Amino acid sequence: MPVTACDVIVKIVTLFLVFMAVLAMFGRLRFPGQKRLAAARCARCGRFRMGRGPCDCGKTTGKGKGR
Ligand SMILES: [Zn+2]
Repeated sequence: MPVTACDVIVKIVTLFLVFMAVLAMFGRLRFPGQKRLAAARCARCGRFRMGRGPCDCGKTTGKGKGR
């Protein structure tokens, strides 16, 4: 069963299509992840909140820093 150039081209095209499909899947997986990261950030200071509690910038306001 000799391997011709046509078979090699078909293999390369198939690998390329699989590679593009994997890239598309990663692109879909990344966008919801970025949305989650953005939702986990504080709306005031933009820092990441630890857990679901309020951010530190909201706590420190009672010490005369700002309002
Ligand atoms: Zn904050």
